[in-house]
Amino acid sequence: MIYLGPAGNCAKDTLSSLKKVKESGLGAQEIEFVYGITLSNQRAKEVGELNKKLKLRLSIHAPYYINLAAKEKAKLNRSKHWVITSAERGHYLGADKIVFHPGFFMGRDKDEVFGIIYDNLGDIKDSIKDRGFKIKLAPETTGKHSAFGSLDEILKLSKKLNISYCIDFAHLYARNNGKIDYKEILRKLKEKEVHCHFSGINYGEKGEKNHLNISSNKPNFRELARLLVKKRQNFVIICESPRQYLDCLDMKNIIEKL
Ligand SMILES: [Zn+2]
Repeated sequence: MIYLGPAGNCAKDTLSSLKKVKESGLGAQEIEFVYGITLSNQRAKEVGELNKKLKLRLSIHAPYYINLAAKEKAKLNRSKHWVITSAERGHYLGADKIVFHPGFFMGRDKDEVFGIIYDNLGDIKDSIKDRGFKIKLAPETTGKHSAFGSLDEILKLSKKLNISYCIDFAHLYARNNGKIDYKEILRKLKEKEVHCHFSGINYGEKGEKNHLNISSNKPNFRELARLLVKKRQNFVIICESPRQYLDCLDMKNIIEKL
């Protein structure tokens, strides 16, 4: 089963967006806290109540400015706080996963940064468990070479901490200079329900520049969809292109014609 949905609201607020997503025959939405955690717990509960009827796959994207490998203690503590607060809202929303970009290398050795992120994410996992928030941590594959988040780094982190992950295909394409081997990626994904991001993407020598519409075919969605429909796993695919809602409808069309 494939659940498609937009990254962020496609109507004036979250409640009306979820209704529109449902009416359009889509199955998911990511709630965007990328520029700040804007929803209160109370509001999150209201959205969660509505979604008990709509039964969409909901996820949260935590703020972009999180860095779980920050060198300054104060920044690190704030980053942890933002992940935990996003998890709290997600818990009240009934979201399955909280997606975030783990952190930056800032000139350090890759193994060293892995260790730092591993330790900090372990603390966050404990804290989420202690508070009883039912939501899975899903670090995302990132698009810039300066950021922690290659496919292997994310899968290793997920395995060692027994947490989930988010596969952003556009980011992997940008990291790999416009090449992507979908079969090889999918072979490594063992979760029953895999959370993904998809869009077109512009890239340069530092990696990701900006997201593009699906029609850019950078990377190609049809090729991926053809492989996904044959899988027994579920896939939640959040569209992060500039025209995310309309592209979701186009992606739905592509899948239905396969
Ligand atoms: Zn993404």
